[in-house]
Amino acid sequence: MNCEIICVGTELLLGDILNTNAQYLSRELAALGIGVHHQQVVGDNPQRMRECMLRALNESDMIILSGGLGPTADDLTKEICCEVMGERLVLDEDILDGIRSYFVSRGRQMADNNKKQAYVPENGIVFRNANGTAPGCGIEKDGKLAVMLPGPPRELIPMFENEVMPYLAKKTGGVILSKQVRTFGIGESNMAAAVADLLDGENPTVAPYAKDGEALLRVTARADSKEKALAMCDETIERIRERIGEYIYGIDASSLEEKAVELLLAHGKKLALAESCTGGYIAKRITDIPGSSAVFECGVVSYSNEVKINLLGVNPETIEKYTEVSTQTAAEMAEGVRRLSGADFALSVTGISGPGGASEGKPVGLAYIGFSHEGGTTVKELRTGKKENSRDYNRYVTASTALHILIDYLNKKDGE
Ligand code: ATP
Repeated sequence: MNCEIICVGTELLLGDILNTNAQYLSRELAALGIGVHHQQVVGDNPQRMRECMLRALNESDMIILSGGLGPTADDLTKEICCEVMGERLVLDEDILDGIRSYFVSRGRQMADNNKKQAYVPENGIVFRNANGTAPGCGIEKDGKLAVMLPGPPRELIPMFENEVMPYLAKKTGGVILSKQVRTFGIGESNMAAAVADLLDGENPTVAPYAKDGEALLRVTARADSKEKALAMCDETIERIRERIGEYIYGIDASSLEEKAVELLLAHGKKLALAESCTGGYIAKRITDIPGSSAVFECGVVSYSNEVKINLLGVNPETIEKYTEVSTQTAAEMAEGVRRLSGADFALSVTGISGPGGASEGKPVGLAYIGFSHEGGTTVKELRTGKKENSRDYNRYVTASTALHILIDYLNKKDGE
C-alpha cells in the first residue's frame, strides 16, 4: 500500500507553524511498511483542497489528511474529502453526546458550531479523539482509502497510535506492534551507529528518534498474531540491548520522571531534592507523575548560599574553598537534604545554566549532580556543552541527568 500525506492549514503555508504532523506521520507509516510517495500542504481554500485530494487519490492507494476538522467555517477537510470520495456526511448522535460531555467535564457549554464535528461519513469509520472534540474518520471506496485526523499533534498522535494503527494493521494483513526503547546519555548519532545494521531491517523495522535530549528507538514488527509480533520485537530489543544495554533505561517508559517514580514505588523508597540551578524543575517533573506523593518527600530550591548553609547544612568553608558550583557543595547539598527529610535517596544540583555566570574553568552548562543513598554519596560532573541562549536546554538536560542517575542506580539494584 502506498500513501500520500496532505496537511491542511493556511498557517502552515504562512510559516506560522512547523509541519511536525507530516514528519510524525511519515515516520510512523514507514515503520508500518506503508510507503509515503508524496506530501502536500494546502491552505484552507476549498478549490485547492479539492484539487489536492483528487490528484493524491489518483496517484496513491491511501491519503492521510491532517487538520481542518475544527468547528469553524474554514474547517472543511471532512466536507471536501466526502465530496471527492462521493460520501454523505451524517450526524452521529453518540459523537454529539460525547462532544457535549467533553465540554461539560470542563465546566463549559458546547457552542452550536461544535455540532459540525459530530457529522461523520455515512459509511465511514470513526476514530475516537481522547484529547479533543473532533473525531477522526476514514472512508474506503473503490480501492482507495482516505483518513482524516485533527491538526493538533496532542490529538493526532494518540489517535494515530491507538485507533489508526490497529486499523491499518488489519488492512496491511496482520498485526502491527511497536515498542519503544528509551536510552539516555548515548546521543542519537552514536546510538544509530551502534545499531546501524538493524536500521536496514524490513520486519521488524527499527527507527531512531531524538527527543528532549534523549535518544529513542522504535521497534515495529508485523506478524499474523500479536504473540508473534511481540516475540519479534523482543528478539530485536535483545539485539539492541547487546549493543547499547548500558544506556537503556526503559522499554515503553513514557519519560525519565515516570520511570523514576515507577522504580521508587517498586523499591518502596523515598526521594528528596536540593536544587539550585534547576530551580525546582526536577521536583516539578517528579510531581507531574500521578502517584508520586508516595515516593516524593520534599524539594528544597536552595538558590542562595545562605539556604545551602542554613537549611541544608553545607559547610560555609566548602563554598569558600570550592565555590557553590563544585563537587563538594553538591555532595553536601545531597547529604543535607537527605538528613533534613529522612528520605532514602537525595539528589542535588548546582550549576551554571547561563547565559551569564561563567568563570574560568566553569562554563555555562556545567553542573554537579549529587546523589546520596544508603551506600554513600556520589557526584557527577555534567557539561552540556551548550552556551548561548540555552538556559532552558541546560536546565532540562541537567534535570534529566539527575533523574537518570537515580534510575540507573535502581535498575542496577534490580539486576543484582
Ligand atoms: P481544531 O479543532 O483545533 O481547529 P483542526 O483539526 O481544525 O483542529 P487546525 O485548525 O488545522 O486543526 O489546526 C489546529 C492547530 O493544530 C494549529 O493551530 C497548530 O497548532 C496545530 N497543527 C495543525 N496542523 C499541524 C501540522 N501539520 N503540524 C503541526 N501542528 C499542526
